[in-house]
Amino acid sequence: MFVSECLNVNEKGHLTIGGCDTVELANQFGTPLIVYNEETIRKNCREFVSSINEHYEGKGLVYYASKAFSCLEMCRICKSEGLGLDVVSGGELYTALKADFPPEKICFHGNNKTDSEICEALDAGVGRIIVDNIEELRKIGRTAAEKNKTAKVLLRIKPGIDAHTHEFIKTGQIDSKFGFALETGEAMEAVKLALAEENIELMGLHCHIGSQIFDIDPFILAAEVMIAFIAEIKKETGTELTELNLGGGFGIKYTGDDNPESFSEYMKKVALSLKATAEKYGIKTPFVMIEPGRSIVGAEAVTLYTVGSVKEIPNIRNYVSIDGGMTDNPRYILYGSKYDIHCANKMNEPRDYMATIAGRCCESGDLIQKDAMIQKTQEGDIIAVLSTGAYNYSMASNYNRVPRPAVVMITDGKPRLIIKRESYDDLIANDI
Ligand SMILES: *Cc1c(COP(=O)(O)O)cnc(C)c1O
Repeated sequence: MFVSECLNVNEKGHLTIGGCDTVELANQFGTPLIVYNEETIRKNCREFVSSINEHYEGKGLVYYASKAFSCLEMCRICKSEGLGLDVVSGGELYTALKADFPPEKICFHGNNKTDSEICEALDAGVGRIIVDNIEELRKIGRTAAEKNKTAKVLLRIKPGIDAHTHEFIKTGQIDSKFGFALETGEAMEAVKLALAEENIELMGLHCHIGSQIFDIDPFILAAEVMIAFIAEIKKETGTELTELNLGGGFGIKYTGDDNPESFSEYMKKVALSLKATAEKYGIKTPFVMIEPGRSIVGAEAVTLYTVGSVKEIPNIRNYVSIDGGMTDNPRYILYGSKYDIHCANKMNEPRDYMATIAGRCCESGDLIQKDAMIQKTQEGDIIAVLSTGAYNYSMASNYNRVPRPAVVMITDGKPRLIIKRESYDDLIANDI
């Protein structure tokens, strides 16, 4: 069983994605190559949308967190599925606008938005700006006044919840660089300031407790804390906020050890809790926004590499060197992430060979996985790393002046290039 239903094995014993032979894709487009499957990406989008319809009477909007994988085609897919888009930089906003994404369905994030990004967001007419800190709140107010506009904002709140996930991707606890703290009174102070700002319309609150979270309880807890805060705001200021953005962070399957709950199950439980808590505090159930990133695209892509050499160090380790690595996938070096890895042209052979998949950069830490079980591998084999749809291409770099890989989308069983492979000329394009 694979991490996504879009993966299979064909009669040649080759791995397939969306019905396409990955070995043929590697031959046709070259490696490293990232291959996405459109049908299952769309299926994930629809599952999120329908779960809000089913469990929360459609009173919500799903925003794809584009930092997971942003490009024109991905924005177009989200647009056609009726999703909103969460952007965290001027660059992601620019990409969305170039894809004709409706600006009113864009949320603008970031814990340190630059002056020019604030201008760009206001000029574009983004639907919501998520405000991170007091300085930024004032700056948005001033800039909106200069432009004779009103900025519709949500305040990013740290609900004080410690989700069980990797240290670097936890964001809901008080010791976090993101947002306003509840415990210290900082959040209430920000609410009052926002309500007083003339060119700011405070629409609601936002929280995002972290990423790759499997447990539903922290999400429920966060929802309850936020509703209680909306009630407190109503009591203190007389204003009842009507929007609640609960962020993203839903875990996906990287290996057989991961067991994410269906999103429908998440929404069912969170919706029940939102309704019960709102009733308890005597406020209306808010319009709910969620921001899945990883769970839309993560499991729906594979990265294909060609093996260059195999170095067997007796009693120590077998290094299988590939033609990519931390430049296209820095998640192992960042988080020690686990992956399911296969030799794509030997799928029917036993996975009884322990291999450390090594990248090509001048860093001993440039690995994709240490001691992974794969098929016995040699020069020229195609290595497939599964679940590389999120935070891979979007985190790619040009370290060692390695060009970024090409990206292909499988649509109706046919591959099409959606991002060209970088050329050497691209690498020196900004050099003077
Ligand atoms: C990263 C992030 C997301 C998406 O997180 P995933 O784990 O990819 O679902 C959503 N909202 C905010 C504010 C984020 O920072």
